[in-house]
Amino acid sequence: MNNLSPDTDTDTDTDTDTDTDTDKAFLRQAIRLAVTSVHNGGGPFGAVIVINGEVVASAGNQVTLNCDPTAHAEVEAIRMAARALGDPHLPDATLYASCEPCPMCLAAAHWAHIPRIVFAAPQETANQAGFADGNIAEQLYGQTHPVRPQRLGLCQIDVEDPAAPFTAWHLKHDRQAY
Ligand SMILES: [Zn+2]
Repeated sequence: MNNLSPDTDTDTDTDTDTDTDTDKAFLRQAIRLAVTSVHNGGGPFGAVIVINGEVVASAGNQVTLNCDPTAHAEVEAIRMAARALGDPHLPDATLYASCEPCPMCLAAAHWAHIPRIVFAAPQETANQAGFADGNIAEQLYGQTHPVRPQRLGLCQIDVEDPAAPFTAWHLKHDRQAY
């Protein structure tokens, strides 16, 4: 990278900005899904799977709605995308999640060969809202975050109000805690 001309560097920066804007747009979509999920009686999480700039699947958390403890938004979206494409592997996909994926969802993305996972809220935000993501990782691995997040293609991108789904969750008086 050191031998790139200044012009090329400038182009690279522009591309990166565009990528970030694209990432933010899909992350906002995942956050909106998470808020909608709360209003529909689901949990405060949303996920979107994008291939070549197109949304191929999107889902909210369905745990209580489906009585399925594995029905996290990311898992639901992965299942939906794989079925839609007729292929269990999604090597060209990016998974956008409203919140940092739990170990189960990271593993599901790994099995689906998804090379890139982008999320908005850190898992600490979920923990503060009463969700046990950090505890699970701690029990499994003795630590709350992956050792090599870059190997999982995992990255956090800042967008406005990533905690909006949890705010909606706490404001919903008839929520079904799980
Ligand atoms: Zn999960």
